[in-house]
Amino acid sequence: MTDSAVIVGAGVIGLAIAHRLARDGLAVTVVDAAGRGAAKASVHNAGWIVPIMSAPVPAPGMLGKALRWMARRDSPLYVRPSPRPEHVRFMIGMLRHCNRRAFECGVEALATLNARTLQLFDEYEKDGIRFEHHRAGQLLVFTTRHTMDEYRLATAPMERIGHIAVPLSGDELRDLEPALGKQVLAGLHCPQERHVDPASLVRSLEDRCRELGVRFLHESRVTGIRSSGRIVTSVFAGSHEVPGDLFVLAAGVHTGPLSRLAGHPLPVQPGKGYGFDDTSGSVTLRHSVYLGEAKVAVTPLADRLRFAGTMEFGSSDATIDRRRLRGIAGSAHAYLPDFPFEPQPRGWTGLRPMTPDGLPVIGPLPGKDNVLVASGHSMLGVTLAPATADLISAEVAGGRRRADAAGTALPFSPQRFTSRRGRTPAVG
Ligand SMILES: Cc1cc2nc3c(=O)[nH]c(=O)nc-3n(C[C@H](O)[C@H](O)[C@H](O)COP(=O)(O)OP(=O)(O)OC[C@H]3O[C@@H](n4cnc5c(N)ncnc54)[C@H](O)[C@@H]3O)c2cc1C
Repeated sequence: MTDSAVIVGAGVIGLAIAHRLARDGLAVTVVDAAGRGAAKASVHNAGWIVPIMSAPVPAPGMLGKALRWMARRDSPLYVRPSPRPEHVRFMIGMLRHCNRRAFECGVEALATLNARTLQLFDEYEKDGIRFEHHRAGQLLVFTTRHTMDEYRLATAPMERIGHIAVPLSGDELRDLEPALGKQVLAGLHCPQERHVDPASLVRSLEDRCRELGVRFLHESRVTGIRSSGRIVTSVFAGSHEVPGDLFVLAAGVHTGPLSRLAGHPLPVQPGKGYGFDDTSGSVTLRHSVYLGEAKVAVTPLADRLRFAGTMEFGSSDATIDRRRLRGIAGSAHAYLPDFPFEPQPRGWTGLRPMTPDGLPVIGPLPGKDNVLVASGHSMLGVTLAPATADLISAEVAGGRRRADAAGTALPFSPQRFTSRRGRTPAVG
């Protein structure tokens, strides 16, 4: 019988799960290494709720592009050379998934998981979670037909889950967003997509969790796990030993080391992103806009315009490489000519939890009977947070609910990273 749950991580994933399990009637404790609202990736991101972008990062041709871009420190995708064995194994695992078959299976799995995402965000509001939530839709804009055609192919399968992408000419796009420059030739209008202020989502989820009786231990890093055979009995965090019936590892990029403490290391590695917020008012937008060739996300929030982009593998700290920020600002200027290239913005970074196959890792940790994992959400953690919480809730409920969710859950099982001999985790 599961009466209590301990969740490690107060990012958007851990909070969505805490909220869901508390509503299911469990006594929930959330333990986090950082202070309240400090979850870096969950606060510093573009805030898009975009089921239309249900695609894994490893894609046919992706690593070829990365190799071509290796020499450019302002490129949107960068693999930093690193001798760390986990990094090398991870990149080899990712390389193995850069093929059409793996990509299409990944798209199918993510689209299925995202099928109820908008409904789940609406339910958050009905439950009294107040956050900055925009329903204006999204534009994907391109300066070349070739890139536009690639994205058209990628978005077409999402019609199955009710998300459409309508092709528009450059002039039709400028009718919707006059700030777009003349070099934008074509694009896709995705009317169902939404965006949020991610900091407001994290804050209000935590507020609602507290109302539901969830206990929070902030500034308490989990450094040890006590087990008795296949059962974890408690975690050690600062001066606390926190017991529970069930443990959920939702620690973003740190889920790898934590799962190692629990006896089964998972290959979760960071994919570093950069961004900055512009309050100058030089450009106004209504839709969220994806600058296609530059891979930059632009998000209009109530009091600022947020720019985010870059996927850098092999870096695991928060240091800011100014060339990356310059790359994003330069792209912004190229697509939105009124956005000034100077002065250079002050920026931030966030570490996306990545897996070698580009799919989240959600479900029971092999070797332990009462540990679940929820991590590896890559570029879709905000979008997938409520759907992930739904899967975890079904797993905890067991019986009919678990059986009904089994097909959706299978592609995300942590078991896929277990070698046939059982102990050594496979990377791909
Ligand atoms: C630039 C950028 C743009 C993005 N844009 C989008 C977007 O538009 N839409 C979208 O859906 N997603 C987006 N993402 C992805 C999204 O931000 C992430 O997938 C998501 O935030 C991951 O959430 P998380 O809760 O797993 O991890 P985190 O937010 O990293 O939270 C993990 C928490 O675990 C805690 N922790 C770690 N180790 C321990 C420990 N040992 N003990 C206790 N606590 C611990 C940390 O302190 C942290 O608070 C973007 C990411 C970036 C970087």
